[in-house]
Amino acid sequence: MSYQHKPTFIEKIAERLKIIPNLHDTGEVEIPRLTEPGELEKYPPPDEWDDWVEHEATGWAKKEKKHYTIVPTTCFNCESACGLLAYIDKDTNKIRKFEGNPYHPASRGRNCAKGPATINQIDDPQRILYPMKRVGKRGEGKWERVSWDEALNDISGRIGKALKEGRNNEIAYHVGRSGHEGYMDRVLKSWGVDGHNSHTNVCSSGARFGYNIWHGYDRPSPDHANSKFILLISAHLESGHYFNPHAQRIMEGMMNGAKLAVMDPRLSNTASLANYWMPTSPGTEAAVLLAMAKILIDEDLYNREYMENWVNWHEYLAAKHPGKEATFDNFIKALKEEYADYTVEYAAKEAGVKEQMIIDIAHQIGDAGTKFATHNWRSAGSGNLGGWAVARCLHFLNVLTGSVGTVGGTSPSAWNKFKPKFFDSPPDQKFWNELHFPDEYPLAFFEMSMLLPHFLKEKRGKLDVYFTRVFNPVWTYPDGFSWIEALSDEDKVGLHVALTPTWNETAYYADYVLPMGHSAERHDLNSYETHGATWIAFRQPVLREAARRRGEEVTFTYETNPGEVWEEDEFWIELSWRMDPDGSLGVKEHFISPYRAGEKVTVDEYYQYIFENVAGLPETAERENLTPLDYMKKYGAFEVESSSYNKHLKEVSSKDMEGATVDPVTNTIQKNGKNIGIMEKGKPVVGFPTPSRKQEFFSQTMIDWKWPEYDIPTYIKSHIHEDNLDREKGDFPLVPTFRLPVLIHSRSGNSKWLTEMAHRNPVWMHNSDAEKFGIVTGDLVRVNTAIGYFVDKVWATEAMKPGVVACSHHIGRWRRPQDVEANSWATNTVSIKENDGKWKMKTISGIRPFKSEDDDSSRIFWSDGGVHQNITFPVHPDPISGMHCWHQKVRIEKAHADDEYGDVFVDTNKSMEVYREWLAMTRPAPGPDNLRRPLWFARALRPAEETYYLNKD
Ligand code: SF4
Repeated sequence: MSYQHKPTFIEKIAERLKIIPNLHDTGEVEIPRLTEPGELEKYPPPDEWDDWVEHEATGWAKKEKKHYTIVPTTCFNCESACGLLAYIDKDTNKIRKFEGNPYHPASRGRNCAKGPATINQIDDPQRILYPMKRVGKRGEGKWERVSWDEALNDISGRIGKALKEGRNNEIAYHVGRSGHEGYMDRVLKSWGVDGHNSHTNVCSSGARFGYNIWHGYDRPSPDHANSKFILLISAHLESGHYFNPHAQRIMEGMMNGAKLAVMDPRLSNTASLANYWMPTSPGTEAAVLLAMAKILIDEDLYNREYMENWVNWHEYLAAKHPGKEATFDNFIKALKEEYADYTVEYAAKEAGVKEQMIIDIAHQIGDAGTKFATHNWRSAGSGNLGGWAVARCLHFLNVLTGSVGTVGGTSPSAWNKFKPKFFDSPPDQKFWNELHFPDEYPLAFFEMSMLLPHFLKEKRGKLDVYFTRVFNPVWTYPDGFSWIEALSDEDKVGLHVALTPTWNETAYYADYVLPMGHSAERHDLNSYETHGATWIAFRQPVLREAARRRGEEVTFTYETNPGEVWEEDEFWIELSWRMDPDGSLGVKEHFISPYRAGEKVTVDEYYQYIFENVAGLPETAERENLTPLDYMKKYGAFEVESSSYNKHLKEVSSKDMEGATVDPVTNTIQKNGKNIGIMEKGKPVVGFPTPSRKQEFFSQTMIDWKWPEYDIPTYIKSHIHEDNLDREKGDFPLVPTFRLPVLIHSRSGNSKWLTEMAHRNPVWMHNSDAEKFGIVTGDLVRVNTAIGYFVDKVWATEAMKPGVVACSHHIGRWRRPQDVEANSWATNTVSIKENDGKWKMKTISGIRPFKSEDDDSSRIFWSDGGVHQNITFPVHPDPISGMHCWHQKVRIEKAHADDEYGDVFVDTNKSMEVYREWLAMTRPAPGPDNLRRPLWFARALRPAEETYYLNKD
């Protein structure tokens, strides 16, 4: 097929005037067809990926043909791990661009802006290319280049010594952007340390708790594409959680007739496309959800069969209404009484939304029935004291409609997520690290990571070797100055190793800064619950694969990456091998190749073993005469299950049924004192991983762990509830959790395209509120928090709920004059001064053009680098879920005479006071049987069961 462009009138004139090259004087222009006809016609066919030819984009008029080798990998710029295809120029061996991978089951060839922008991160002229070691005082900003050998020997020697001396709890690995399924758990268990810390309690542990308390799974997996009604709480899509895979399926669902409702005080991009935008006051979402639940119950719109079979209503009646006969009708009567106060009038008033909208949405939910998809992640779940109750009340609607795990409904995450089989599984560690899971937070769904500096200051423990992995708490976390104080003190943190692809505010306070690869420069296994199927994807270093295709031998990934940029997978193997040279620590044995006796495992062998054990992959690969590993190197992804629904109906094996009994009232199957399943229509099925094996409307766990007032789904008033605001004095709730869709937390700072698109974070304020202050867009305000303030510009808009303000947290990057110049597309230069815990930050200069090998750096037109707001927030750990409650009660005033844009002030003495106020709300362990934590709760890097029991007096 040939392509012939008919010149327009203007083109003809421009050609004649030689303003543009003459494209039409050589007759027909022959361009090879780009694709085969069909659904994927925009993509090169895989059999041409080894030698793909297209015209050079930068010299299009010359029609210069370029030969590429195309290698699949996955994006690393949010959790979704969408597929990418790297186009590698065969002449230069350089990556020229990234496009979508049509063979990736979740992203299906599509990406958001952050996917293709990976090329900016790779080509970043200021990236870290070699291992760096601090010289001078920590934080002083002086560095020297070292070899990988030197860094590995120093760090491994130090860890080995700590392990020999039994100081296992002094080793910790703290992950920001995670991404490789189970890899680090295996490494940390091989070291015998309880050393996993994560960012989850500043991200999602609130929502996770709400889901877990219902059914033992901690995340929702909505089947948007097949749903009839979709309800999203907050800026879920733009917050980055499965952004692109969910967005495309929501659109697909809507094109098939589904309706979308969004609860968010801010008119987000998602809300602007919804059928219903419900701008609830932050923290009141659960009241509205319970009002909807009441409508479903009162109007008999619930799914009786599902509720009767799958809700633990017998337990509820026995505990709360012991005098009543245990019938389902009595349960419904009791439900009506429980939720009698959640009238539409009450909810509408509480949330500041229209009554009719609540009624309409409830009816649509009832009508959607089992095709009701929901999601709640950040914002409401992560913003409020008791935010976990929002997820619990949202899931209540799924339970009422029987839309749990159905086509078009909402499945538990684990049903759509692949679990790899490893070549070696070290035993559970025998340590419990109280810096991560302290007694005060026995139900905390993940590590209490935001309290690490406070715990170190209180001398609850210390860290000898502390790894931060693609993690920037000084900037992303609340109370960043407390992090600086802790990280600067070598008595608290002996050695800080920052594993990062780019300089950041936390790396400035490290001892080693070790460059780790971007998505196309590393190995990872990915699998996420993006839709009603299960898939795996292979993130691979594309230049290494290109070298293999050329027949070159590569030992370590850094040999093909820019400079000496490495990857964690090989780094951990090397580190573990060196810390145990004679094998006496019992570490080395977990890094022996499964294919070559006594030899160190290679990264290829690690993945070879996993892929050989993925159901269906070896057979699919064989049909193409490939090994499973080579298949993944070629296509980058594999669909493990095309449909993953109703897994609670999986039959209990006949072996497990041996000796089991069935409770005739509840239909529960019991064995050895435990519930192992449910009899459903005469068939033994596994049910849910809760104590009752059912959906736990009633939670004995909450009672056992001292929170009886929350034994059923309840509305909890937030710390920023209207009752706690003094409007006369300028109090507002601040929503700081939303993200601009083109930004990544820290790592868009080295992407010129992304920062060009978004580089400001003004305070969103409704026009009517701005009028009251007598301010207009661009005016400065001082936003006072409990521990300090920041000075920012206002954006007056109709897109904000009156009485609420919001500010995105992805802007306001900084470096001090002594720090390495990096991320200059987005980084302000600031001065920081401290006196007795009182910290002042002032912007010296905003963004400026700079000289580099990339000419675009001299063309920067923006100067506004935004304001660092998170550093002015105290920690707000929810006493139950452990989630940091991000929303702030702020007092807004016009900027003072000497205030300047970007000013920040914080008193870390006050930070400690607020930390103690919130700590005082907890109800510490032990629980029943002297337990630290319910045994049925999942735990990151779960230790040996014996460690769950407190031995204290
Ligand atoms: S949603 Fe965007 S940032 Fe996230 S993985 Fe996909 S392409 Fe990358």
